[in-house]
Amino acid sequence: MKDIGFKKEIATGSYLDHFNGFQEKKLTIEVRYDEITGVSTRILPYRVRPIKKPDLDFYLEKSPESLCPFCPGLFEKTTPDFMPNITKEGKFRRGEACLFPNAFPYDQNNNVAILSSRHFIGMDQLTADTMRDGFAVCRDYFHRVAELNLGYKYCSINWNYMPPAGGGLIHPHLQTIAGHKPTNFMQRLLTSAQNYAAATDGENLWRNLIALEKNAKERFIASTGTISWLTSFAPKGMAGEIDFIFKEKTSFFDLTETNFNELLTGLSRVFSYLHANDFISFNMTLYATMTNNRNFCVQGKIVPRFVVNPLGTSDLNYFEKLHNEIICPTVPEELCRELQPYFMGS
Ligand SMILES: [Zn+2]
Repeated sequence: MKDIGFKKEIATGSYLDHFNGFQEKKLTIEVRYDEITGVSTRILPYRVRPIKKPDLDFYLEKSPESLCPFCPGLFEKTTPDFMPNITKEGKFRRGEACLFPNAFPYDQNNNVAILSSRHFIGMDQLTADTMRDGFAVCRDYFHRVAELNLGYKYCSINWNYMPPAGGGLIHPHLQTIAGHKPTNFMQRLLTSAQNYAAATDGENLWRNLIALEKNAKERFIASTGTISWLTSFAPKGMAGEIDFIFKEKTSFFDLTETNFNELLTGLSRVFSYLHANDFISFNMTLYATMTNNRNFCVQGKIVPRFVVNPLGTSDLNYFEKLHNEIICPTVPEELCRELQPYFMGS
C-alpha cells in the first residue's frame, strides 16, 4: 500500500534546569507533518492538562435567556427568513430545531441551525436525541439546495460550541455552508485524495488511511459500523483532534438517517470524554461533496478548545496564526487510548 505521508522528526534541545540545581536538562520535541492535510504539529514532550474546569456560570450570567436572539422570546423578531424560492415557510423546522440564514454570513450560503429552544445544553447533555433535529434541518436544507439545482458542489456542517471556540452565543447552534468551491482546507483534502488516486491507479486515500491506522493500533479509536473514529496524527489544536470518516460515502446525499444516528451517537461519546476531562468547548466540521466524488469520503473533525485561566489566555498563538504550525502538548496516541473506553460496546 502506498505511503500516506505521515512524517516525523525529532528535535532536541537543552537548558540548565532551575528546578534541579541548574543541571542540564535535555528535551525532545517531535515535529510531525501530515501530507494529506498539510498540517504541521509539534508534539511537546511533556504531558500537561491545559485546563481546570472552567466556570460555566461566567458565560451563563453574561448571556441570559432574556437577551438571547435564539431563545423563544426574541427568536421570531431577531432571525432572518429565507427568500421564498428556498422555502415559503421562511425557515426549515423540525421539532424545536430551526435553520435560517446567518444575519452576518461568512459566505453567500451560510446558515444557522439552533438545536432546540434550549438556551444552554451542557456538553454531557449533547446526546443523539438533543442533537438530532438540529442536524436534520441542515440535511433538509442541503436536500432542498440540491433539488433547486443551483450547482453547489461542496458543503459543510460546522459548530463553534461555546465562546472559547469562537461561539458568539451560548445557545447551541450549527452553521452550514454550501458553495461552488470548497474552502481552502477542504480543497487540500480533495487534492490529496486526487493525487493519491493518480499515484495508485485509483485507490481511495481514506479507505487506505483507515486500513493502515486500524492495523497500527495507535490512533484508531473504534469503528461504529459505517464510521471510523481516529485521533489525528498531526492535530489542528493544542488539545488534539478527533476525526471521523464515513466508509464508502462519497457524497453528502449518500448519508442515511441511520448514518446520522451513528454519527450523533459517536459525537456524544466524544463529548462525554471531553466533559469528563473538563473541556467546555470545541469546534466541529463535517466536510462533504454534494455530487459523488469517488476519491473523497464524507468526513469530519472535532478540535477541543479552551482558554487558560486566570487571564483567559487563548489556545491560539503566533505559532499557529503566523507560522502555520500547531503546538500540541496532547499526544495523539494517548488521546486515542483515553477515548477508546467511551466507544466500548459500539
Ligand atoms: Zn438562547
